[in-house]
Amino acid sequence: MPELPEVETVANGLQKRVAGDRIDSVWLGNKPEPLKSRPADIVRTLEGAKIESVRRVGKHIVFDLHRNGAAASGQWIVHLGMTGRMLVADPALEIPKHTHLVARLASGRELRFVDPRRFGRLEVRHGRFRGPGAEPLSINPEDFARLFHRSKAPIKAALLNQRLLAGVGNIYADESLFRAGVRPRRRTHLLTRDELKKLHAAVQQVLREAIAAGGSSVSDYVDADGEKGFSQFQHRAYGREGQPCLVCKTPIKKIVVAGRGTHYCPRCQR
Ligand SMILES: [Zn+2]
Repeated sequence: MPELPEVETVANGLQKRVAGDRIDSVWLGNKPEPLKSRPADIVRTLEGAKIESVRRVGKHIVFDLHRNGAAASGQWIVHLGMTGRMLVADPALEIPKHTHLVARLASGRELRFVDPRRFGRLEVRHGRFRGPGAEPLSINPEDFARLFHRSKAPIKAALLNQRLLAGVGNIYADESLFRAGVRPRRRTHLLTRDELKKLHAAVQQVLREAIAAGGSSVSDYVDADGEKGFSQFQHRAYGREGQPCLVCKTPIKKIVVAGRGTHYCPRCQR
C-alpha cells in the first residue's frame, strides 16, 4: 500500500507533468467502487478545468482545478488505495485493464487512473480539501507531543491512526520507532517528553529520506510515469525479522500490534 512518501512522489511527478494542462474530456468506467462522488459531478467538475497544481494532502493526491470565469474552483482528490496508479499516457498506448477514469488533456496526453483491486477512490470537492489528521512533515514538536499525549493506545497504533497524523503507514511507523528507540507496544500517554521529541524527529527524518529515495519499492508500486521509478529506501526494522539489528546485531523481532506485523529491535528499543 502506498504510504506518504510514495504518494508525495506521485503527486510531485504529476505536478511536473500535468500542471498547467487542461482537461478536455473525461471517460469513466462502469465499476462503482472507485467513484466516491457522483459520476456526473466528477465529469462536470473535471471537464474544461485547468489543472493549477497537484500536491499531496495526507495520503491523498489533490488536483487544484480552475475554470475560466468561475470564482469557485474545484478539487479532484485521488486516493490510490492498495494498487491504484495515476498514469500520464500517450493516447496511442492501449488502455490497461482495470482503468476506471481517463482524462484527455489539451496537450494531447491522457491521465489514466488504473486500479485492479479497486480500493482507490476518486472524488471531487468544491470547498477546500483538508485531510483528517495533522501533516507529519509540518507539525512542530510541541503540537506533536500534545496530539500524542492524549492517546492511551500502543504508540505503534497511535502512529497509524490517520486522525492523529495523516499519511504514516506500517513501514514508516516501524522505521520511526526504531530510530527513536521506542518499543511499539509502549502506551502512548506514558512516553516521556524526550521520547516524544525523538519520535517527532524520527518520523520527519524517515519520511524525508524516503521521499528523497522516491518512496519504497516494497509493493508493486509505480510512479506517475508508470515506471518502476523508486530506488529502495533502506529499511532498518521493517521486513527484517530474524536479521541482525544494524546497530547492535540483536535479531529483529516481529510481533503483531493493532493487527499489523510490527518489527523492532528488543535491545535498541525500550
Ligand atoms: Zn539493536
